[in-house]
Amino acid sequence: MARIQKILIVGGGTAGWLTACYLAKTLGAGRPGAIGIKLVESRDIGILGVGEGTWPTIRATLAAIGIDEARFIRESTATFKQGVHFAHWARAAGSAGADHYFHPFNQPSYKGDGLHLLPYWLLGAAGDVPFAEAATMQKRVVDASRAPKRFGDADYQGPMNYAFHFDASKFAALLSAHGKSLGVEHDYVNVRDVELDEQGAIAGIVTEEAGTLHADLYIDCSGFRALLIGKALGSAFRDVNDTLFADRALALQVPYDRPDAPIASCTIATGHEAGWTWDIGLHERRGTGYVYSSRHTDDARAEEILRAYVGNVGEGLTPRLLKFRTGYRETQWIKNCVAVGLSAGFLEPLESTGIGLIEMAAYLIGHLFPFDGDTTRVAAEFNAQMTGRFERVVDFLKLHYCLSQRSEPFWRDNVDPATIPATLQDKLAMWRCRPPHRLDFINDLEMFPPSSWQFVLYGMEFKTELAPARTAFPQFDAARQEFHTLRQVTGHAVNDLPPHRAYIDHVIRHG
Ligand code: FAD
Repeated sequence: MARIQKILIVGGGTAGWLTACYLAKTLGAGRPGAIGIKLVESRDIGILGVGEGTWPTIRATLAAIGIDEARFIRESTATFKQGVHFAHWARAAGSAGADHYFHPFNQPSYKGDGLHLLPYWLLGAAGDVPFAEAATMQKRVVDASRAPKRFGDADYQGPMNYAFHFDASKFAALLSAHGKSLGVEHDYVNVRDVELDEQGAIAGIVTEEAGTLHADLYIDCSGFRALLIGKALGSAFRDVNDTLFADRALALQVPYDRPDAPIASCTIATGHEAGWTWDIGLHERRGTGYVYSSRHTDDARAEEILRAYVGNVGEGLTPRLLKFRTGYRETQWIKNCVAVGLSAGFLEPLESTGIGLIEMAAYLIGHLFPFDGDTTRVAAEFNAQMTGRFERVVDFLKLHYCLSQRSEPFWRDNVDPATIPATLQDKLAMWRCRPPHRLDFINDLEMFPPSSWQFVLYGMEFKTELAPARTAFPQFDAARQEFHTLRQVTGHAVNDLPPHRAYIDHVIRHG
């Protein structure tokens, strides 16, 4: 079996460059005798250029590829993201009852003393304070528009868990410059065709400008076009639109209403009649968009909803319409071709899973790498792990919708059991009499930790009837005391952290 000496990545969006940087670092590109990595992309087609929210794993990924935090913040005009504020998901605006909840990135407080707070919160030890607010400090930190870290904290470290928001085009440019500095070769070409050999593996990539390009491993990062994995190799697409209905987005970048407006350090996700809007605060502008189901509304009505949401700052600006197919390839690695990014699948922007799944795919390729050239077993392992992840992400995203009490057809269809995967229905049935436990999750396959499931589940007002099991939870008083202590120390934590905008201004001006 011939060793892999050349890798060709087709596509220069977030998927292509993040994978290129990750592999360049893990495989030592640029060193004498190292595997060569080349990335080609089309100047004419460009990149998708949306995708501004991330998951906290991005910090380890950026550190692993060697981009320091100040440079990253400066060059991709990044801000901090400490979670997602969900408004009007459980019930519509104007209805009686709570109209929002928070999904923080911090885990519930746990001192390693066996006292898990969730069951006691369910038994009423925190009164009527919502779970995320009772069990973490992060909600109040975010409400006060504070950064998750102090001046002087080490790169990618801070008292609060965090991810980033950024400008997707600037991020791709940063990754591209960094990838080239790591030894990744780069060229602008238009791929016209893909040649297969008699075994059905890729034999070459036919370009308009540079003839046919050859490699030992081809990475398809060509976005929704899926030129290699889909068009050439015909990997089947598993459509999940019957579970996750959103298939369109209108995106609009808007200015702040004043230059010194506080920057939200969470994504604001607001439910509307046929979908939800995202609202992401960057340094000099906000990124907003309405994600919706074309089966439940039309583009004109969607634009009305988005314009009503953004208000005056959107006047004179034209939103960009994006259509997407919700689902993923059942086989993402076939012979000498592996797909990463939109070519492998996409499940709507909720909870920023796109870039998280790219990070995971790059990590798997880097660490399962077939140094002997035999891709068969590695492909099988990669496919099992990525499919498992996509399946679990589908369940987690559906959890956000399927407990809603809203009455519009989009939301009613979302609670219809016929649209809820059996795996998720089983979990919900078990959680009626006990809260989620880490044993419900296969750790290595999950993108989201058990706490994320708990924050969304109880944020959506799911009822776990724990009273019959009360005797199994004898530390009620200790838990009540812990909730009380947390409330008190949160005030200090908030005061200890700088305002979000002040921190970002400082990094942009002084590095
Ligand atoms: P693209 O950016 O589309 O890049 C494809 C590349 O392939 C380009 O360089 C293109 O030039 C090249 N190419 C294509 N055809 C050819 C050809 N014939 N010849 C040569 N080159 C070619 N993800 C998140 O994590 N967080 C979010 O908040 C988020 N929000 C999103 C919102 C929307 C509305 C959508 C649709 C997606 C969102 N995503 C988000 C997903 C995220 O945008 C993508 O995962 C990410 O941008 C990666 O895209 P990509 O690199 O796979 O594809």
